Amino acid sequence: MTARPRVMVSRCLLGDAVRYDGGAKTVAGLRDVFGTAWESVPVCPEVEAGMGVPRPPIDLVVRDGNLSVLNAATGHDLTVSLSRVADAATAEGVTGGLDGALFKSRSPSCGIGDARHYQGVVGAEFEDGGGLLAGALRGALPALPMLDERQWAVPARRWIFCYRVQVHALSRREGLQSALSAIEPGLRDDPFRLDRLRLLARFGDRPAFLREAGRARVARHPDGWPAAWEIRSLAITPRTVRDLHNSRAVRKDTVSK
Ligand code: SF4
Repeated sequence: MTARPRVMVSRCLLGDAVRYDGGAKTVAGLRDVFGTAWESVPVCPEVEAGMGVPRPPIDLVVRDGNLSVLNAATGHDLTVSLSRVADAATAEGVTGGLDGALFKSRSPSCGIGDARHYQGVVGAEFEDGGGLLAGALRGALPALPMLDERQWAVPARRWIFCYRVQVHALSRREGLQSALSAIEPGLRDDPFRLDRLRLLARFGDRPAFLREAGRARVARHPDGWPAAWEIRSLAITPRTVRDLHNSRAVRKDTVSK
C-alpha cells in the first residue's frame, strides 16, 4: 500500500485543548482527513517548550532586527526555549518526510504569515510575519505547501493545498516522473506548462517542479474544485469531499483567533 502524504498540523486544530486559554480550535472534519487520506505530524510548539496549559499569551517583538518571544504578562524572554523546539521540528530528519503543513492562523508560534511582529515593544506598531515555528519551516522548505485554518475554510484554497500536498508526496516518494504522470491528465489544455514540467522532471529540479505544478493548478481551476482523477489521487472519497464542502462547521470554526 502506498504511504500516505505526511502533513504537520497544529494540535489545537485537531481538537487538542492545548491553547494558552486551555481550549482548542477544532476544525470539523480534519481528523477524518488525517484518518483517511493523510498521516498527521501533530505539533504544539508552546506545549513542547514546557509552557503548560493554560499559560500567559506570548508576543513576538522585533528588536535590532532580531525576533524575540516575550511572555506578555511578565516580559520574560522565551526565545531560546521556543527556538529550540522550532529547530527540532524543522530538523532535516523531520522535514525530509513532510509533504505539507496546516497551521493555526495568527499564532506567534504557528501563524504562517499573519503573526504580529511588534516593532520594539509589545503593543507598538506591528508588521505581519511568520510565527516562530512556521517561519523556521518556511525557511527550511520554501516549496512546502502551507495553509492555515482560515484558508482551509475556503474550498478553492483547500483544494489547491490538497493538490499540492499530493504532488509533493508523489515527487518525494516516487520521484518527479511519477508525480508528472499523475498530474498530466489535468494539464492537457496547458501544453506550454506541461512541457516545462516535463523538462523540470527530466532534469530533476524538484523545487522548480513543485512551484510550477502549484501554479498550473491555480491557473487551470480558478474555482479550486478538483477533477475526479484528482480526488482519486488524493485518496479522499467523494463522500469526504461532499462532507467537507457542506460542512458549515468548517467555516464557522475558523473565524476567530
Ligand atoms: S497555535 Fe500552535 S502553539 Fe498555539 S496552541 Fe495551537 S498548536 Fe499550540
